[in-house]
Amino acid sequence: MYHHIKQLMYDVHVGEPDVRFGTMLLEQFGGANGELAAAMQYTIQGWSCDDPERKDLLLDIGTEEISHLEVVGALIRMHLKPMKKNLSRAEEDPIVAVTGGGGLNLFNSVGNPWTASYLKIAGELDVDLRNNIAAEARAKITYERLIHLTDDQGSKDALQFLMTREITHMKAFSAALDSLGKDPFSIGQLAPTPGLVNEYYNDSTGEGAIGKDGLGSWIGQNGLHVVEWPKNLETNGNGTNGHNKNGGGLRTTKTAKTGAR
Ligand code: MN
Ligand code: MN
Repeated sequence: MYHHIKQLMYDVHVGEPDVRFGTMLLEQFGGANGELAAAMQYTIQGWSCDDPERKDLLLDIGTEEISHLEVVGALIRMHLKPMKKNLSRAEEDPIVAVTGGGGLNLFNSVGNPWTASYLKIAGELDVDLRNNIAAEARAKITYERLIHLTDDQGSKDALQFLMTREITHMKAFSAALDSLGKDPFSIGQLAPTPGLVNEYYNDSTGEGAIGKDGLGSWIGQNGLHVVEWPKNLETNGNGTNGHNKNGGGLRTTKTAKTGAR
């Protein structure tokens, strides 16, 4: 059951309406990383969740996202209002002006309609919590970019509030994921193939104008070891290589031989 309270979660004030900025804000209303997508993703995950505590978390945050949708909607409405009757303002975005009268509609910033394909719902609690952590990170960076694109202090304040709440949600989803106490690389029921799971393929090699080969300090962690790839280009242990006589510039390492067995 849902109940509406006639008050915004954060009071919105706009100085001079900016139609162009209003259309950019639509990204957080009807866009891929916007508030409706977040609200629907968490709420629908919550409705199908069998874990009572985490179900409640999903529904708490899913419901807050609807309140965010309302706040960002109020902000957009203030910025778009002049386009309804003002030709030069309407020309800034004819789709929003003519089809929507400068009001709210479920479009993103370039006029594409909202779609359920934005939602990441896997039906597996830990996988969905990861989906949600990623969704919050995307929402956060989108708000940050929008804050940089306006000089209106009232808009900045509202966006700062919304941006902050996404980090709060990220913290909650991360804590809920940790609380499951699962090995972070254990997903689902089936175990990955031993050996293969720890092979890191050095698939982009050599050096050129657009980059060079390298192995980050993180390689070697989580059980990973490097295997030169493709294996059919490696020297085969007695110094010959049936596919490429000069070895193709690939290094053959101890771990590569191990991986080629
Ligand atoms: Mn939100
Ligand atoms: Mn959020």
